[in-house]
Amino acid sequence: MRTGLINDVVELTSEQFKFKVSENAKNIFRKTIDELDDRQKFQAVAYAVKDVIIDEWIATHRVYDKKDVKTVYYLSMEFLMGRALGNIIINLSCRDEIKKAIKELGLDINVIEDQEPDAALGNGGLGRLAACFLDSLATLGYPAYGCGIRYKYGFFQQKIEDGYQKEVPEDWLRYGNPLEVRRDEYACEVKFGGYTRTFTDENGRSHFTQDGYQSIRAIPYDLPIVGYSNNVVNTLRIWDAEPLVSFNLDEFDKGDYHAAVEQENLAKTITEVLYPNDNHMSGKELRLKQQYFFISASVQTAVKKYMDKHKDIKKLHEKVVFQMNDTHPTLTVAELMRILMDVYMLEWDEAWEVTTKCVAYTNHTIMSEALEKWPIELFSRLLPRCYQIIEEINRRFCISIEEKYPGDRGKVERMAIIYDGQVKMAHLAIAAGFSVNGVARLHTEILKNQELKDFYEMMPEKFNNKTNGITQRRFLLHANPLLAEWVTGKIGDEWITNLSHIKELEVYADDRKCQKEFMNIKYKNKKRLAEYIKKHNGIDVDPRSIFDVQVKRLHEYKRQLLNILHVMYLYNEIKEHPEKEFYPRTFVFGAKAAAGYKIAKLTIKLINSVADVINNDASIEGKLKVVFIEDYKVSNAEIIFAAADVSEQISTASKEASGTGNMKFMLNGALTLGTMDGANVEIVEEVGEENAFIFGLSSDEVINYEQNGGYDPMKIFNEDMDVRKVLMQLINGFYAPDDPERFRDIYNSLLNTKSTDVADRYFILKDFRAYIEAQKAVEEAYKDEKRWAKSAILNVANAGKFSSDRTIEEYVKDIWKLKKVKVEV
Ligand SMILES: *Cc1c(COP(=O)(O)O)cnc(C)c1O
Repeated sequence: MRTGLINDVVELTSEQFKFKVSENAKNIFRKTIDELDDRQKFQAVAYAVKDVIIDEWIATHRVYDKKDVKTVYYLSMEFLMGRALGNIIINLSCRDEIKKAIKELGLDINVIEDQEPDAALGNGGLGRLAACFLDSLATLGYPAYGCGIRYKYGFFQQKIEDGYQKEVPEDWLRYGNPLEVRRDEYACEVKFGGYTRTFTDENGRSHFTQDGYQSIRAIPYDLPIVGYSNNVVNTLRIWDAEPLVSFNLDEFDKGDYHAAVEQENLAKTITEVLYPNDNHMSGKELRLKQQYFFISASVQTAVKKYMDKHKDIKKLHEKVVFQMNDTHPTLTVAELMRILMDVYMLEWDEAWEVTTKCVAYTNHTIMSEALEKWPIELFSRLLPRCYQIIEEINRRFCISIEEKYPGDRGKVERMAIIYDGQVKMAHLAIAAGFSVNGVARLHTEILKNQELKDFYEMMPEKFNNKTNGITQRRFLLHANPLLAEWVTGKIGDEWITNLSHIKELEVYADDRKCQKEFMNIKYKNKKRLAEYIKKHNGIDVDPRSIFDVQVKRLHEYKRQLLNILHVMYLYNEIKEHPEKEFYPRTFVFGAKAAAGYKIAKLTIKLINSVADVINNDASIEGKLKVVFIEDYKVSNAEIIFAAADVSEQISTASKEASGTGNMKFMLNGALTLGTMDGANVEIVEEVGEENAFIFGLSSDEVINYEQNGGYDPMKIFNEDMDVRKVLMQLINGFYAPDDPERFRDIYNSLLNTKSTDVADRYFILKDFRAYIEAQKAVEEAYKDEKRWAKSAILNVANAGKFSSDRTIEEYVKDIWKLKKVKVEV
């Protein structure tokens, strides 16, 4: 098929692969394959797969080098990768040989894949987006690095005990990571604290150096990102921290024992743990250290790599572009300025020109509690030179605002980078970035017309939209093999690398035979999830019931509370009208709450309490089941999406920037029950309103209420007896007989303006009636199997737009300007 020097790679036979695995068993574990336990089998196979990848990895970078390509550095505090092995195998050209070998060795590929811990280096959507982007970049053949942090403990493991969430550290590296490569040769130094010293040289030029600092050694670990059947292997480079010298004897001799220990402690803590906040700023000093740590290391390395081949630092932007995933990596701006001026001796204007051509910013949220602001005191103490640079950027930026809007003090106050004792990272990112993008059309419009209105008016050319996407390789091909095979059987396999082809399924939506095939696959996937639930929750759920699923981070704006209040309402209805026809329904929840987010954690307890009562009430004859899936993460998400009938996307309109869970559900043939928020708007546009269930306030209405101090939920409480009954059950012990006050805070968040500044800030009661009606429409629609099957198939067929391949092509064309590369092995 292919020829070349390293042809044993692509023409790998199953015999060769088997040999690799048995050699690994011997070398690593001193055992034969039969003697290995499951985890060891995973490792023996994973090392063999790594061996297969390595030559392509080297070949890819040889091509990048030779062609002197422009490279995107995707900078992100989070990469929610999930498991690697299964995904790598399906992407490799030699997947069939590997699968054959595994079978011939008497191993079960599913059992082996199940041994791998998730790489949970992220919280939710933002981190998973970064992971999908890496998959798409490699598959499309674009030169790219992901740059991040090698957290020792990823996102915590969630245990449910007595209905409450308990956080358990996730020691994902306990047995090592077979797929990573430590690259000591690229280690570099990152400096914290101290003070800047200024001196003027004989030519009158000012120079700045940092003195009295603490140093950390940043050490990169590379993970392979395998493109689909194209021999491309890109790199996710995650940084670990070590003390510069393991115990600083010099300092010890000088009697500065304390300083030496401190430096060692800083190294130990900096990459210790991922902050578990989603859409929320914690303001912790260590977090800012993490940010500078990985940004300094990544930017230094990128500039060094460029200068190894090129002479003119002023043309950096021709070969390098930094994409900042939210404001977390915004220190890129200051660090690049610092390197250009202090190391490469550029003048301010020259450095600014290069920097502003190299950095681009993606905005992920408009919620004020998520906006990054750092106190000047902390910032300047930790990063004195960067702070000095940002002060100067701010000074010049404020002048440019005044020039454009003479006399308008409000403009300067609203747009300044440093104001009111704080450094505003989004303002820095916008002032310095050549591109500012939102992540769904509605979100970008809200940015332009509301949140970032001043910035948009001053520099409209920077603003653009890139609607998020997901990789169909993981979320259909890998997660739902039955449906993937069915799709390929109907329309061929081009959808795997070009999801727009999936539109060709549309002609089968009305075909009765195809509908039955589709519903049968859905049934099998529901059985697979039912087995998972039986094993993990001990609950029996009927795969013939409607699987109504809400899985995502627990957040008030995502409104899991609306969902569970509706379940409580349904339960009341069934109890009051047992004679009424009711189509059996299984409500599935999965969500982690940030460890310090009280009301979110209480909501988990409420869901589990409601589940306990309902699941154990024999009188309702199993019409309703409620399941809370513990430890929602990428690996069990893959099972959940495939099994869903209904996709709950019910955020308060205007709050969810995009959502990507909504896209995974759609691609797996679930119908969206949602508000006109984030990418739901575009999903409905693609699939047609008749194939989704849309309800609730519009974003304009929500924003309008907010600008006028909210609305009065008491009126609804007083007038709607169904709502009233459900709310009373929060405080009369119905779901908490041992402690009737348990859910008081939830009740108060909806009604009581004394305990919260705004009652029902997320418009749960306001949308409640509309949600009940939409849920009734879901039930009616499901009863008509033909109609449902048609809608479900149409959802799959119209998911083409939501491939991250499409998103990446847009980034490349409008922002990054990269060229595709071909790798022949
Ligand atoms: C896709 C995904 C998310 C994001 O879900 P949303 O519904 O868009 O918030 C979060 N966590 C995991 C594990 C995911 O796979």
